Parts: sequence; C-alpha cells; structure tokens
Amino acid sequence: MIFMLERFCPKCGSTEGPFVEGFCKNCYLQDHKMLEIPDKFEILFCKKCDRIKLKNVWLKYENTDAIAEYLLHKLKMEDLRKADFKIKFMPLKENYLSAKITVKGIFKGLPVLIEKDTEIKLSKTNCPDCSRIAGGYFEGILQVRSDNPNKIERAKRFVDLFLKRQKDDPLAKIIKRISLPNGFDYYVGSKRVVFQLARELKAEFEGRMGTSNTLMGLKEGQEIKRLTVCVRFDEEGKE
Ligand SMILES: [Zn+2]
Ligand SMILES: [Zn+2]
Repeated sequence: MIFMLERFCPKCGSTEGPFVEGFCKNCYLQDHKMLEIPDKFEILFCKKCDRIKLKNVWLKYENTDAIAEYLLHKLKMEDLRKADFKIKFMPLKENYLSAKITVKGIFKGLPVLIEKDTEIKLSKTNCPDCSRIAGGYFEGILQVRSDNPNKIERAKRFVDLFLKRQKDDPLAKIIKRISLPNGFDYYVGSKRVVFQLARELKAEFEGRMGTSNTLMGLKEGQEIKRLTVCVRFDEEGKE
C-alpha cells in the first residue's frame, strides 16, 4: 500500500507548491490567462475641441480617470478576485499615448501581479458638434442694439471674452457676425450661450432684453425653433 506520494507538477516536474488543479503555480498561470489586455486600443479624438469619445460620450481629453475606466471595462477578466488596478499614462508620440497597466489580485487562491504596456491610438475625427459648427449650424441669434457706438464696441469685446471662457463647449461659437450702424447680430451655435450672453450683457450695460422664437420647420415630428434674443441699451430718456 502506498500512503503518500510526493506531489509533483505533471508539466514541469516541480515539487514546489502551491498546486492548482494538479499543476504548479507557474505552469498553471502560463496556461490560464486570468486577464487579457489588448496590445492596442483606439480612441476617437476631435482635435478641434480636444475631446475624446468614450462609450458614446465626448469628454475632455485631460480626463484620464475616464480613459482608465474605459480601458478597465475593455479588459477581459476571469475569476480574478480582490483586483487592484493602476494605470499610468504617458504621451508616446503624436496621437499616441502609452498606458502602463498594473493589476494585482488573487487568482484561484494565488496572489498574482500583472504588468503590461499598451498603446492607445488617438484617431483624429470631427465630433458631431464640431461637424455641425463647420457646416454652419446655429441655434440662435444674439442681437445687440444701442445708439452709443462706444457701448456697441464694448459689448463686442464682452462677447469675445465670454466665449473664451466657454472653450469646453464646441457649440459656444459665433458662426456669423453682422455689424450694423446701431449694433450687431451674432449667429451662435448654442441656445444656452445666446441666453447666458444676453443676460450678462443686460446686467453689464443695464439694458432691456426681449426674446422671440421662429419656427424653422419640423424634424422627426419635433418643432425646430430658432431663438433670437435682443438686448437694447439705449441712452437714458430715449426709447
Ligand atoms: Zn509546473
Ligand atoms: Zn469637436
């Protein structure tokens, strides 16, 4: 009768434990991938507004937490417990990033550490917002009227400074500027910006504000309206 046989790995002959499903740790891990990390990832990147597309949302490129989360969701993982991920990004070359992914965890009772460098390609494209702006899209018109040429000039500078602070929104752009003797009409990509600008101009120049909507047509059963907001700051006593 045999009571005890020394345990050994059928693949490499090692007698060193721990054993997993009969194999030594090294052989087992070699044959069972617990984590698949692709060598390359591709992410769409809009150079015009510096945003990347992750899971159908366009986000600022500097948002590395979002990139990390996106990569993690792309990894194929099996039975890895207590996993701890770290991702370090480095610019590689133009339109390429490198990401060093470090994963620590427990796999079939064995502590494992995986490190891998992957490459992220930023594929240049135009995001839908930038494409629309390039195609002349606008949601509203900002009208400014005044009989004071000085105030008109100041209002123009006010608008430009305002838009500089709105760089995160690709629709916050003027796609057409019309100068008039008593003011200006600016065609603006975003309704929100037209409203906000009008309110701030009204406060800054103590003016009055009026809005109107023009029905432009129907799209998929929805009314498409164009917003016009007029801000007037006439001299005192005049109407
Ligand atoms: Zn072995
Ligand atoms: Zn864009």
